[in-house]
Amino acid sequence: MPAPVEFRVETRHDLSQRGAAAMTRTLNFKQELTAVLGKPVAENPTQVMVEAAYRHHGLQWRYLTIEVDPLQLEDAVRGARAMGFAGFNCTIPHKVAVVPYLDDLAESARLIGAVNCVVRRGGRLIGENTDGRGFLTSLRSLVDPRGRHVVMFGAGGAARAIGVELALAGAARIVVVNRGEERGRELAAVLGRAGLKDVQCIAWQGRYSIPRTAEVVINATSIGLFPDVDAELPIELDSLLPGMVVADVIPNPPRTRLIRSAEQRGCRVIDGLGMLVNQGVIGIKLWTGTDPDPAVMRAALEEVFRSQER
Ligand code: NDP
Repeated sequence: MPAPVEFRVETRHDLSQRGAAAMTRTLNFKQELTAVLGKPVAENPTQVMVEAAYRHHGLQWRYLTIEVDPLQLEDAVRGARAMGFAGFNCTIPHKVAVVPYLDDLAESARLIGAVNCVVRRGGRLIGENTDGRGFLTSLRSLVDPRGRHVVMFGAGGAARAIGVELALAGAARIVVVNRGEERGRELAAVLGRAGLKDVQCIAWQGRYSIPRTAEVVINATSIGLFPDVDAELPIELDSLLPGMVVADVIPNPPRTRLIRSAEQRGCRVIDGLGMLVNQGVIGIKLWTGTDPDPAVMRAALEEVFRSQER
């Protein structure tokens, strides 16, 4: 005689237990956190670019735009530690002030003396500076800086980050042209410490004529930034020669007067959106381990700036 077949009817209780088990396997309401800390920060568009990448790559991550008063920065960093932030960007005015609250600095952040990206490694917060590396990624799409003669306008945070990375990348000569002489000299000294042998510092008075030997020309000042979109770099426009690579750090608007003038004179150009996107690419890689798609990030930013024009 065949053995009796055993079967069991699933009760409503069984079903709900099974459902609950499946839910605990698949649902996760805890997102990994990243942010930008600054003041003022409301008009900083980085969130749009970074979250576009998170969505595109299916990452359950968030990027928050957080206004932090300079007097509260230490508490804010302690809070980010306590809440397990994977990292955060620092923008004006926290790039230098954040350093004492971190556990260590990467080499370029140490040389630059400023941090724009903090990364949690284990329980430690490490300060990085990705601005200059982001710029270099853009530059390398047109020219390798090794052995090149560079003229750079400006000696603030962006110029320091770019100058140090150019020095580390083997640029042969950098001429720093800055309105404030003291700041220009400080940057020249920083570049010397980064290993650059040939660095010259020029106090910017009147219209500057770019030497014919310059191969890369960089605006690292804030001239041309929204809303001062018609502001013009005081240079002799006729000294922009075909064959020069002209780069601007201004991300908004990307097509600055300098970029347009340089294009008209046959120069190859790089806009500030490239730097912004590429420093974001490096930050996302450091935080998440994923290589994000720069095209998705750039498209998200362009959409923001287009809607601002309307
Ligand atoms: P800082 O305030 O540190 O430095 C500003 C620089 O611009 C200084 O060298 C200053 O000269 C110079 N400058 C400003 N106005 C004038 C003027 N009218 N004439 C001559 N020189 C002038 O700013 P940051 O270096 O942090 O930022 C500079 C720009 O870079 C900003 O517009 C920012 O948006 C952009 N940036 C872009 C990034 C990107 O990803 N695309 C990343 C980081 C910054 P002086 O020393 O004489 O005052």
